Amino acid sequence: MSTDTLRYFDYAATTPADPRVMEAMFGCMGVAGVFGNPASNSHAAGLKARDVVEQARAQVAALIGAEPSEIVWTSGATESNNLALKGFFEREPTRRHLVTSKLEHKAILDTASHLERFGVSVTYLAPDPSGEISPAAVKAACSHHTGLVSLMMVNNEIGTLTNIAEISRIVHAAGALLHVDAAQAAGKTAIDVKAMGIDLLSMSAHKFYGPKGIGALYVSRDVASRIACQMHGGGHEQGLRSGTLPTHQIVGMGTACELARIEMAADNERIAQLSERLLNGVRASGVVTQNVSLAARIPHTLSLTVDLPSFLPSMLADDLAVSSTSACNSAAGKPSHVLTGVGLSEDSAARTIRLSLGRFTTQADVDFAVECFRNAIERCMEVSTGGQDVQIKQLSNDVSVAGQLSGADVLAAHAVGFRSIVCNRHDGEAADQAEFANIAEVANSLGMAAHYLPVTSGDITVEDAATFSLLINELPKPILAYCRTGTRSATLWDMACTEQG
Ligand code: PLP
Repeated sequence: MSTDTLRYFDYAATTPADPRVMEAMFGCMGVAGVFGNPASNSHAAGLKARDVVEQARAQVAALIGAEPSEIVWTSGATESNNLALKGFFEREPTRRHLVTSKLEHKAILDTASHLERFGVSVTYLAPDPSGEISPAAVKAACSHHTGLVSLMMVNNEIGTLTNIAEISRIVHAAGALLHVDAAQAAGKTAIDVKAMGIDLLSMSAHKFYGPKGIGALYVSRDVASRIACQMHGGGHEQGLRSGTLPTHQIVGMGTACELARIEMAADNERIAQLSERLLNGVRASGVVTQNVSLAARIPHTLSLTVDLPSFLPSMLADDLAVSSTSACNSAAGKPSHVLTGVGLSEDSAARTIRLSLGRFTTQADVDFAVECFRNAIERCMEVSTGGQDVQIKQLSNDVSVAGQLSGADVLAAHAVGFRSIVCNRHDGEAADQAEFANIAEVANSLGMAAHYLPVTSGDITVEDAATFSLLINELPKPILAYCRTGTRSATLWDMACTEQG
């Protein structure tokens, strides 16, 4: 699949809606469609809307082995996670302990830290050496204080699978409930909430070819009375989540679930073959490591680290829509908590790419991606064997820093994809230093932008940081900033981030 020339490998972030989903949604909009309010029971327009909503509810339930009455519509997995965790602890007076993991999505981690402020104690499990959250770790963490265990079924960055069925036995033996974040699992791996012993389960339609802005929380009928509503209003969804039901979104999600139920096995087989082809292609270079390769995983999501110091994820950005998990919190310049959580150094995390494949990925896409990796790796090899030794430290997706550059270093920086140079050093500080004018001449001849913003060590002002921040916003990216050792450039970046909060 391509968007102009960009090949899409970011299905874990979101998927395009399936045309069959779009068609079903269009039927719920406009004067000739099923546009009524599903809560209007005094006329046929409303009743018709209620029928299609209930049909969609049955389609969602069928995908995960639930009863339709156990499906609560939400705006997506973020809201479902919030409703499950906050809704549970609002009603739970004694078991005020939550067990979750360090590898969860922010929608769980931030909700957990919010609950900590309200007296809930939280245990964050670390993965085992293979990258999985083990049943043994869950067992060790559970006590008679534990009310809820919340774990993801499939990790969004590395694609690892959690052994939910075994964990649910442990959780229930401890007298607690199990919530599962299945945002990355629904439509990619078989789910049976009853057989797996799941009490609460979160889903988001846009992760499996449905529309954005609609999701569901499965609430087992056995635990429904233990969950407090978080969205008050008209008492919709059995009082668990108020708000007019978005018929077209709901029908889109129902259709996406129906398609997943029927087509998942065939989709997965094709995706597994493509994923294998991609992996073999990039690993042939000898410098690409597949992360958590020993863990149980879905084939859709690959986490790959390029073991060359000069590699930057941005080298692929013109051709491939991939996720560089290295700098998910790029404003803070922090590496991915998942990658460091499974043992990668910050440096390796900065050279890691997530490629996720889906229903519309073709073999031509995969072969193109392999070619892109090959080209990027070749450029990195040229840099490291070309006599130039540029020590580049990546601070975010957009900004890296280096020590003093020569004209040859600018050539090397251009070869690995940098588009702008910023000099944070005064001309004339040392005899052997290239003047900025020379650096700018080389950069401009290569079509790169070059900017002079010299600052003084130990005397970097708030105004300097503000100017640096403006430059970062305006210059073509990625940007390489340099001074004598890189320290002044890094300080400017830190100050600019702090200022932006
Ligand atoms: N949980 C996981 C594992 C996810 O991957 C995501 C989305 O990336 C979410 C929750 C949040 O989903 P949404 O943004 O659709 O609410």
